[in-house]
Amino acid sequence: MPGTQTPLGLFGTEDLIGEDDRAIRDTVRAFTADRIRPHLADWFDSASIPARDLARELGKLGVLGMHLEGYGCAGTTATAYGLACMELEAADSGLRSLVSVQGSLAMYAIWRWGSEEQKQEWLPRMAAGEAIGCFGLTEPDFGSNPGEMRTYARRDGEDWVLNGTKMWITNGSVADVAVVWAQTDDKIRGFVVPTDTPGFSAPEITKKLSLRASVTSELVLEDVRLPASAMLPEARGLSGPLSCLNEARYGIVFGALGAARDCLETAIAYAQERDIFGKPLASYQATQLKLADMSLELGKGMLLALHLGKLKDAGTLTSEQVSTGKLNNVREAIAIARECRTLLGANGISLEYPVLRHANNLESVLTYEGTSEVHQLVIGQTLTGHSAFR
Ligand code: FAD
Repeated sequence: MPGTQTPLGLFGTEDLIGEDDRAIRDTVRAFTADRIRPHLADWFDSASIPARDLARELGKLGVLGMHLEGYGCAGTTATAYGLACMELEAADSGLRSLVSVQGSLAMYAIWRWGSEEQKQEWLPRMAAGEAIGCFGLTEPDFGSNPGEMRTYARRDGEDWVLNGTKMWITNGSVADVAVVWAQTDDKIRGFVVPTDTPGFSAPEITKKLSLRASVTSELVLEDVRLPASAMLPEARGLSGPLSCLNEARYGIVFGALGAARDCLETAIAYAQERDIFGKPLASYQATQLKLADMSLELGKGMLLALHLGKLKDAGTLTSEQVSTGKLNNVREAIAIARECRTLLGANGISLEYPVLRHANNLESVLTYEGTSEVHQLVIGQTLTGHSAFR
């Protein structure tokens, strides 16, 4: 017996999405079905993706910096951007990471904090996927506490000279431009660094067990000399990079649900086909209890995401609200992925099915853009007025 509802159908969330946003979502879904899904197991297995080709295709699709206005960006609603992230991550968190880092971190940093010259130089090419960007904030010794970073930019006449190391940088080795955050004598500042600048290198990080279909790199800056015009003029202090992280986190609120939805749909289909003790796995109470509970969390997460999307479109979304979405939806998504894995039995550990690939990817998503614990502390501080970070 086929079911009569999908997990999200049960919640009727489709009716909460406007026609234009739905059309964008469906276009991204069709793209991932044709162009991405057939290759994912191989890309994950070999830990390599054709990032340059993909960036151009994603540029043509119009998803790179899609929620930004001007400079070749599509200027869609925040909800449409979230829904696009959901479809990209339903394919693989690595694909969504490529798009998030390009649009919400590297492009947003230039769009929000850059000079007109920097915007004209980089944004149109980045929106088209002809130039790839990365965002260097984390360092080997400073992740959750980036304010203590050691990368330093010193003035030498009109020039800046950068030294330091960044770690765990998505798109690093394939990037044409890196937005690098560094200490200066006047607070933390951002720099737009063309990756062919002498002294810059980006060795790829290998042996990852998560986000294998995504490029992750170290950034090494050894006396990287930049003109005065390379500094992002409008960003001073940690609020600059944190504003970019807030944009990317918003995409993750939706994105993580895409991975969860894909796991749940896979598990439901699998349970229908798998006979155990002479009847479908789907017909056992234990299976249905699991599926019902997972659907509740997926649906609640979707309602939260759409609500936050509305707030963002209205211009009232706060960073604490983004923390609630990121914390809840990633935590529930990884729980769903792991529970779905149990329903697939041994098949669940294979790349023939997407479930453990998603679960492994979500380990990174749980950690980057603020760990779960950091978001708990943000919410705790909002509730109590006490900072428990130190
Ligand atoms: P730590 O900060 O060392 O945290 C270790 C543990 O301590 C965690 O459980 C954490 O929650 C906990 N903890 C931290 N502070 C507190 C506290 N105050 N109280 C209690 N517990 C605490 N960074 C970039 O800049 N750009 C990128 O493009 C990028 N891409 C990434 C891609 C991948 C695949 C991964 C895995 C990471 C990426 N990162 C990137 C880095 C990511 O943002 C950091 O890993 C993250 O901020 C956590 O930092 P950390 O790994 O140093 O962990």
